[in-house]
Amino acid sequence: MQRGSYRIVSYKVRHNHDVREFLSSYRHLLQRAIDTIWDGIEWKKKKNRLIPMIPKSKEKRALRNQLLKDWNYASHYVDSAVKTAYSILNSWRRNYIKGKRSKNKPVVKRRFVRVKETLYRFRGEKIVVTIRPRQFYLEFDLSKAWFRKRVEGCDLGELILKENELIITFRKPVSSANTKKRIAWDLNLLSMDGFCDKGWIRVDLKPLYTLHVTYENIRRKIQRSSKTRPKTAKRLMQKYSQRYRNRVKDFLHKLTARLAKELKDYEHGFEDLEKQGMFAKRKTHNRAVSKQNWKQIIALMSYKANIRLLDPRNSTKTCPTCGGRMKRRKGQVLECKRCGLRINRQLNASINLYLRMWVFPPSMKVWEEVILPILRRSGVTPNGGETNDLLPMNPEGAEVDVPQGGHTSIKDYVR
Ligand SMILES: [Zn+2]
Repeated sequence: MQRGSYRIVSYKVRHNHDVREFLSSYRHLLQRAIDTIWDGIEWKKKKNRLIPMIPKSKEKRALRNQLLKDWNYASHYVDSAVKTAYSILNSWRRNYIKGKRSKNKPVVKRRFVRVKETLYRFRGEKIVVTIRPRQFYLEFDLSKAWFRKRVEGCDLGELILKENELIITFRKPVSSANTKKRIAWDLNLLSMDGFCDKGWIRVDLKPLYTLHVTYENIRRKIQRSSKTRPKTAKRLMQKYSQRYRNRVKDFLHKLTARLAKELKDYEHGFEDLEKQGMFAKRKTHNRAVSKQNWKQIIALMSYKANIRLLDPRNSTKTCPTCGGRMKRRKGQVLECKRCGLRINRQLNASINLYLRMWVFPPSMKVWEEVILPILRRSGVTPNGGETNDLLPMNPEGAEVDVPQGGHTSIKDYVR
């Protein structure tokens, strides 16, 4: 199963509608939803801690009816507030259990509303947003918008209404038929492994991993001091988490900008993480961290390049030449139980994903006619996976390029 290739583009339009009252009403609504759910939380004692049990979503209906009583705008906003309130509290709970948040009720500060597809129409060249049915609509005229031509034939996505601007997202379908160049990425904790006509492209994610580890250590240290100096601890925590978030964001922005630039005209294939969730067995901290990174990388790439989501099933375990099951050998090397092919684990995954991008099933013919010539031409590093084989893809400096780790013939490690 493959989805079409697309990219997401977003544009801002300034507006002069007076929506202050609506936005602040929505903020109150959301806060009231949070307050009500919060009051229904049961605190269960577990060892020395109190664990919050958030009321089941069965009670959503009652909450909705209660909130609707004095809500003067379209009822869909209530649904959206209830949903948002639950997701805010569930995320607070996860962080609270990890010790990253205190036992204080979350407070909504933002003044914006996400407008779902049920609440707007796109007619002619106007977006009409319903605020109060049959009474209060907002019109946004796009006929003179500079980006009009660019989004012709695109699906309109979510809108974000702010005080002076409307952010419009479009899902832009991209025809793959014209894409001759494709790169498939296997995402790992310490590296991104791409395979394309240039060969095996490794991108070092260690700087990103180091950021996570460093922050985790700082966080623990601050937490230890929070009993004796709670105020200082709180201030420090805020300062460091802000700094950490900015650094991660900065790294990811530079990385994706670089990839989009160096691999211009390429369609980028990534494993569909939503599907991957179903097959993931281990839930370790590292896994959570890398999943978060991948999500951000995919999201950012979708703004900068054409992307396609790929079925992740068995991408690491399948033999690209015979479809057999791979067995783990020493280090990063895999061996096929059926045909005996030996290959680096990450390279194998990215090749399998590359084949999926072109809708080729595993076969010896494709391996010999498509994959092997690429590997030979690019002189792939043998037994990859050693730290010093990693391409120094530091987004500040080095180029994305084919690794030149000694022009060892592919035969040396593929049998
Ligand atoms: Zn095989």
